[in-house]
Amino acid sequence: MWTDIIQKFRISHPSPSKPPLRPKGRPVDSRVVEKNLFILKKFIHVYCRGHHGRRGRELCVECLDLLNYARTRVEKCPYDPKPKCKECPTHCYKPDYRQRMKAVMRYSGMYYVKRGRIDWLIRYFLAQSV
Ligand SMILES: [Zn+2]
Repeated sequence: MWTDIIQKFRISHPSPSKPPLRPKGRPVDSRVVEKNLFILKKFIHVYCRGHHGRRGRELCVECLDLLNYARTRVEKCPYDPKPKCKECPTHCYKPDYRQRMKAVMRYSGMYYVKRGRIDWLIRYFLAQSV
């Protein structure tokens, strides 16, 4: 009886420090990757426009590098299902990319909040939970 209760407790409260590992050879679902990158792309575009003077659909080399890096991080996520990055025990970003990404999130997050586009932020954080 106690083991039943403990079992139920474990199922309803999985330890956030140990997400299940992704089996070898099974790629991260491409829909999960795209969902994770959808808002990120928009954020990096806003940041690039504000900081590097880019117009249109092209990103500068530096921002394109950051976006490609973010893509490989999502594609190489060792866990399945992918946890929210915020709650993940593994900080897979290299420190300099981490700093750059934080700067992008801060700048572009404020940009959208000021314009009342909080729905995009919410969608971003929902996408991260996939
Ligand atoms: Zn740029």
